[in-house]
This record gives sequence, structure tokens and C-alpha cells, in this order.
Amino acid sequence: MERSIQMVDLKAQYYKLKEEIDNALISVAEGTAYINGPQVKDFAKDLKQYNKVKHVIPCGNGTDALQIAMMALNFKPGDEVIVPAFTYIATVEVIALLGLTPKFIDVREDTFEIDYDQLGNVISEKTVGIVPVHLFGQCSNMEVLLKISKKYNIAIIEDTAQAIGAEFIFKDGTRKFAGTIGDIGTTSFFPSKNLGCYGDGGALFTNDEQLSEKAYMIANHGQREKYHHETIGVNSRLDTLQAAILQIKLRHLNNYSRARQNVADRYDERLKGHSEIIIPFRAPYSTHVFNQYTCRIKSDNRKALKQYLTSKGIPSMIYYPIPLHLQEAYRTYGYKAGDFPVAERLCEEVISLPIHTEMKHEDQDYIIEEILNYFKTAK
Ligand SMILES: *Cc1c(COP(=O)(O)O)cnc(C)c1O
Repeated sequence: MERSIQMVDLKAQYYKLKEEIDNALISVAEGTAYINGPQVKDFAKDLKQYNKVKHVIPCGNGTDALQIAMMALNFKPGDEVIVPAFTYIATVEVIALLGLTPKFIDVREDTFEIDYDQLGNVISEKTVGIVPVHLFGQCSNMEVLLKISKKYNIAIIEDTAQAIGAEFIFKDGTRKFAGTIGDIGTTSFFPSKNLGCYGDGGALFTNDEQLSEKAYMIANHGQREKYHHETIGVNSRLDTLQAAILQIKLRHLNNYSRARQNVADRYDERLKGHSEIIIPFRAPYSTHVFNQYTCRIKSDNRKALKQYLTSKGIPSMIYYPIPLHLQEAYRTYGYKAGDFPVAERLCEEVISLPIHTEMKHEDQDYIIEEILNYFKTAK
């Protein structure tokens, strides 16, 4: 049997919806409203309903969404924004681009989220924002972060690029969708995200009317009315074509989340308790939508395991190999090795296994067997 295992199987996912998607694409082509066509508004409305949030502002991608959020919040050069040292680069990039000062903070070893216990040491008079990243598909502890944000009057921008559809569970049992809890939330529709389009796309979420209007304006050249520019903005739009695809895929998002969770449960079942593998930690305050299934390999085995899996036709990824504070481009901020020991160690230990909505049981069993085989022979 010819086996082809991928980190993400977008082709099989497309084929399941092919007819519906093809028709939507043709209808956009024939309608010619390629920019800001009706599908963009319709999709924003659908997503608003799904996420139970007052406002959804579509934009060009998840990185732009972060930038627009910080511009809408009126952050000014010199202001400080707190960001985890272990995440994707986009989170800190826009902070630097806007002339704000990134203040890195270490992450928690179990959930990989901002270590909120250390916030007290990082918050200063100049702090204007905190960016919790709901990394790999699980919410950060928003209840704790909301308390801190109120106490110090600091805005919270939730980076929800990897966690659309995840729900935060408050102590009283109330649930809210990732990205709708802080002042503003951002997400990405990059193809490999949980709700992915066929190119770039992004959106912002907020319950704050003013912030929503501001963000909408900024994403559209700072104009509310055509050719009347009230503020300096950017050009960041969700294509009509992408919106048409997303409208269809949003209807399947719950199934997609469930499919990912099933794959994660199956990995958990077979890998838990293994002396060499730490499986992903499930926080009691969040559902997990598993954009990634990220294990930690305790010993020096990671590189060899990765090579072994590659030789067996099994892809794996290192998200992320270098913490943000040690990235070349961010040297100027004065951080050094040893500053964030947990983030630094995670970069040495993490390995993400294939997980997607179309995973076949036999392929996953093969992956699991080969992982176990590796450790049998490695000893
Ligand atoms: C993907 C991602 C982004 C950026 O999204 P793009 O649409 O690729 O710009 C930002 N933050 C995190 C955590 C991401 O995973």
C-alpha cells in the first residue's frame, strides 16, 4: 500500500466539499465583486454568530489583524506590550514595526501560555497591552489575565490564530470562544489553521463598538466614507473569494475541531505514561482544538526521533526551534540566553506530530507504532 502521510491534508479536505466550493468560486468569478463582495460581509456575520461576539472585522491575514488591533487601541511608540517568548514570530513583529517595545515573558511549562505569575515583574508604567497566544489550540488562562488587565488598566489582545473554535471555561462554568474575551481578538485563516482558506485571510473580534469601528476604519485606509481619511490606516482586506470559501468551511468547523480532538485522543491513549514522551497538557479551563499536537521529548532524542520518523515517511515539525527573545532580528532589545529558561527548554524539546481533519486510523496507528519502535531501539 502506498502511504502518504502529511502534517495537514488539505487536498482530502477539499475533495469532501469540492462541489460546493467549486460552485462558490465560480459564482465569485461570475459576480466580479472581487474586492469587498457580499460574501465578505456575509461571512463576517456568520462568524459573529458562531463566536457569539458583537463585531467581526475581516482583514488580510492574522499578522495584519494584530497590527490593526494595536493601532485601534491607540498604542504609541515607546509603549510596552507584553508577549510570550515562545510563540510564532508574527506576534512580536507588529509590536516592533509600530515602534512599541516588546517585553518578553516566559511561558508555563505545561500549557505553553504566558506565565501570568511573572506578570508582576514585567508590568511597568509604560505597559499598555498583553498578548496572550492561545498556542496550539488551547486558551490561555483568561480569567487570571482579565483580573490583571483590570487591576493595571492594560488592554488584552488575544492571538487566536491557532485556536478558533476553542472555548474558555470560567470558574462558574460560563464558556466563551477564544478571541472574544479580552478587549480584542485576532485570528488567521492561513490554509493550515483550523479554519483555513485557500490563501491569506484574517479577522478581528471585539465586543467594543468603538474599537470595532476604529479597527474597521484602519483596515480600510483609515476611511469610513470613501476618500475621507480620518486616521492613518492600512490596506488589509479579506478577498471575496476567500470569504466565499470560509462561509462554507465555517459550517464544518465544529466537525473539524472534533476530528482533530479524536486524533489527539488517540495519540494520548497510546503515548500517555511513556517514560520518554510528555503528551500535551489539557488545561481544565479550556477546550482544545489541536491546531498542533505537540509533545515533548525529554532526553536528547528529539533530533534522532525526527530523523527516524522522516526515514519512515512520517513528517513532524518543530514549532518553534528558537524563542523570540533569541531571534537575530530582536537582539537589539537586549535579551540573552538564560532569560526565559522554560521557553528555551521547550524549543529544545517540542515536536509536533501530524494532525488534521482527514487522518486515517491506519496512518495514525503507523505513526504511533513507529514512535514506539524508535524508543525501543534507541535504548
Ligand atoms: C499563523 C499565526 C499568526 C499569523 O497569521 P498569518 O495569517 O499567517 O499572518 C499569528 N500568530 C500566531 C500564533 C500564528 O500561529
